Amino acid sequence: MKEQTITGHTKLTGLLGSPVAHSISPLMHNLAFQLKNLNYVYLCFDVGTKDLKTVTDAFRIMNVRGFNLTMPDKTRMFELADSVSPAAELIGAANTVVQENGKLTAYNTDGTGYMRAVQDAGYNIIGKRMTLLGCGGAATAIAVQAALDGVEQITLVNRQGPSFVRARQLADTLSTRTSCQVSICSLEDSTELKKVLDQSDILTNATPAGMAPHEEQCPLPDSSLLHPELIVSDIIYNPRSTKLMQMAQEVGCPVFNGLYMLLYQGAEAFRLWTGVDMPITDVKNAYFQ
Ligand code: NAP
Repeated sequence: MKEQTITGHTKLTGLLGSPVAHSISPLMHNLAFQLKNLNYVYLCFDVGTKDLKTVTDAFRIMNVRGFNLTMPDKTRMFELADSVSPAAELIGAANTVVQENGKLTAYNTDGTGYMRAVQDAGYNIIGKRMTLLGCGGAATAIAVQAALDGVEQITLVNRQGPSFVRARQLADTLSTRTSCQVSICSLEDSTELKKVLDQSDILTNATPAGMAPHEEQCPLPDSSLLHPELIVSDIIYNPRSTKLMQMAQEVGCPVFNGLYMLLYQGAEAFRLWTGVDMPITDVKNAYFQ
């Protein structure tokens, strides 16, 4: 592999959010730039919401090629962009920005990242039925992309509270604006949830329940809700195997975690900035085991 040299022509990309120092994105993107012999660099900037406008205005002047956003900047960036992709518009948040001539276009690649991870795991869920746990940022991105891509039915499952209200609004929006039928179900209603899961092809956990350091948590009360043909996916990748995944494996369900969602959301951002496909196999071997 040719060593990367920073020159006067090097294009800057990076990550904005707070905290960002733990992120795997610089490793993934800088390796991919090197492997593809692209004169780009990716850096992390610890920037909270209050400074986001100042920083992105400076990025316009500095002709920064593009950047990713993580919490807490995703929603604010959506408001600051000059234009937004159709998916980002439905999601109401952006995790990727591309700059052309001082104009910032916002995208959301979390949903495409998840859909590509499903394919990578060997499944085709187009025309199928999905049950999605949670209605925060990640769940919204997944629901929007799944609906746009042609998943036939989605049930948004949440505990009673603000997320349940958000889920109802999202279900209305997606049912009106896409051909997907989207409904909601209360996490507390085990009878209804069992019915929903019996008819589902894939269950996706987009809640943080089970993420380190709370590995003992599980978003579902017990395994009687699952059936062996149900694909069970968790978008958590730390730990690699969550309590939900272990419970599902005991029932005989195929399972996969959130590691490749992370990879593919980055791969899509990489393609948007460079017009080149990320060398997936090499990046996987280096950082996604
Ligand atoms: P978020 O915006 O805070 O949303 C969390 C959602 O989960 C809310 O709907 C919340 O509902 C629900 N929830 C939280 N704890 C719960 C519990 N114990 N039982 C049931 N529901 C619960 O978070 P997010 O940004 O969407 O992230 C969610 C998870 O996805 C995190 O673990 C994050 O690390 C992971 N993630 C992974 C990727 C990837 O690339 N693999 C990308 C993004 C996020 P309430 O309103 O009721 O609390």
